[in-house]
Amino acid sequence: MTMRKPVFRRFSELTPRDVNVELQVHTSWTDGKATSREVLETARARGVGALAFTEHVREDTDWYPDFFREIDANRKQFSDMAVYIGVETKAMDEQGRLDLSESVLAAAEIVLGSVHRFPDDRGGYLDFKTLSAEETAEIEFRLSMGMIRNAPIDVLAHPGGMYQRRHGEFPERYFREMMIATLERPVAIEINSSYLVNMARFIDLCREIDPIVSIGSDAHRLDEIGTCRDLLLDMGIGTP
Ligand SMILES: [Zn+2]
Repeated sequence: MTMRKPVFRRFSELTPRDVNVELQVHTSWTDGKATSREVLETARARGVGALAFTEHVREDTDWYPDFFREIDANRKQFSDMAVYIGVETKAMDEQGRLDLSESVLAAAEIVLGSVHRFPDDRGGYLDFKTLSAEETAEIEFRLSMGMIRNAPIDVLAHPGGMYQRRHGEFPERYFREMMIATLERPVAIEINSSYLVNMARFIDLCREIDPIVSIGSDAHRLDEIGTCRDLLLDMGIGTP
């Protein structure tokens, strides 16, 4: 059986169909509020064409086979949608090591790599409160670049997200370098409606650099499914 994988396109090549997707969703298997079944029903009601369950995992996660089986069974009743079973995992160092086991990596149909915490070099994490905005941006940038260059990811998820939650707009020079590096690898970079504090500026950079993109709302509740798609359609992205 060949593995299902979403197809990612460069920003300038996005069609309405490519935009009509929701490629970051969390369920009650982790910190999401709804079941996979409810997510699928809601996505269908909203006309979403492709959806990815990207559950948070760690290297020691032991429930992934059960999660996979549940969704694999459910998606058979939603064959009008392309449904992918994937993961979101975090960077553990600046060389792109992920908090992810080999077995889960082998099973996942889409792998999102994120910066969630800043590892120190002693097996722990730095406290965000002790870091300046500049330090936060630089560390997040380096962790992101490690994944872009080396990690077995399909998508760099919510780029600049940790910085933006604390300090506002992520420095444009870092976004620019990250986008260029994703094209060299290549991996997709996510347009994420939950973390981007200035979507219009990020889209301008996408127009300029034309990276391969993924589209995700980081939906944790049913009412968030399709948010990023709707914002992009409102901006005229992917319309002829
Ligand atoms: Zn995340």
